[in-house]
Amino acid sequence: MSPDASSFLPETQAIHSGRGIDPATGALTPPIYLSTTFERGEDGTYPSGYIYGRSGNPNRNALAAALATLEQGTAAAVFGSGSAATFTLLQALTPRDHVIAPRNVYFGVQEMLAKIFAPWGLLYTLVDTTDLAALAAALRSNTRLILIETPSNPQLAITDIGAVATLAHQAGAYLACDNTIPSPVLQTPLSLGADVVIHATTKYLAGHSDVIGGAVVTKTANPLFDQLRLIQTMGGAIPSPFDCWLTLRGLQTLPLRVRAQSQTALTLAQWLAQHPAVERVLYPGLPEHDGHGIAQQQMQGYGGLLSILVKGDQDAALAVTTRTQLFTRATSFGGPHSTIEHRASIEAPGSETPANLLRLSVGLEHVEDLIADLDRALGGKNEK
Ligand SMILES: *Cc1c(COP(=O)(O)O)cnc(C)c1O
Repeated sequence: MSPDASSFLPETQAIHSGRGIDPATGALTPPIYLSTTFERGEDGTYPSGYIYGRSGNPNRNALAAALATLEQGTAAAVFGSGSAATFTLLQALTPRDHVIAPRNVYFGVQEMLAKIFAPWGLLYTLVDTTDLAALAAALRSNTRLILIETPSNPQLAITDIGAVATLAHQAGAYLACDNTIPSPVLQTPLSLGADVVIHATTKYLAGHSDVIGGAVVTKTANPLFDQLRLIQTMGGAIPSPFDCWLTLRGLQTLPLRVRAQSQTALTLAQWLAQHPAVERVLYPGLPEHDGHGIAQQQMQGYGGLLSILVKGDQDAALAVTTRTQLFTRATSFGGPHSTIEHRASIEAPGSETPANLLRLSVGLEHVEDLIADLDRALGGKNEK
């Protein structure tokens, strides 16, 4: 059996939670359980606790246990994507319930609210969740869920988790926080008052750009989480055993990766802030960032994602992405390989992302090589 990992620090939790020595073979690395069905006892019960792969699987349960431990929650459900996690949380609400989400929430969430949940009867308001007065004014008697994302994607805006939790609870609503960008290494929203944490495990948790996945972690048992589990079990939005195994493997190095990426991103942000071709750097680790004070209080490091506004227009920004050699033009973030992306052109019309914004996912390459790469690209030199 694995020891109770909740008493350990993150580096230790990442290696020991959800993992134990395999009792059948002594293996340190868990086997992948592909079986869809499990033997019943003579009396018709399920002595192993497993019945059928849609309702439970050892690899999936192990990953859920590890994520619950790292996020300081009590239970987790893991999904086939981050989008499926948010989708199922919204499905757990009832038509005519009201949801508040950030104006600059991850674009996929804006799309699912507008194109799927609004026609289904869910009411929602998009507000600037960094503005507590605006948030308070958006609350209604039927507000059931406030969804926040901090730092936000791609503008890296900071929302005060503790203050929003107080507002939500006064109104009888749940607070769900998308913790994908900081990961539990840099921020644990449940310890700050949130009821639920959402993840695209695709990003830092799995960490190697090779598996799509998502998770919802809950602080305590509550009807919203029970309903989410019911929907998942009945609807089958589950990740494969191999996807869970890969994510649990990636998780072992999460604290080391995220701290290194965060340190490199801070160095790059400071360097970029002085660069003549850069109009502005959006990174909560910089003292001039609007959310720096709150980030200092609620985060332990500022993360590996940053955005820059390039001097000039969309073409000037796009040109920079043609000149980097280490930063590859690609969407997503959280992998070892640094990427750069022009966000406005991937988000649908109506996005608030500035046309000259480039989002950088800082990988695990040496910081000096990354600085040289950006310096060459921003200086207009193309050595490809
Ligand atoms: C990527 C991402 C998602 C969606 O996750 P998928 O695994 O791509 O479905 C949701 N929220 C945030 C903040 C993300 O970065």
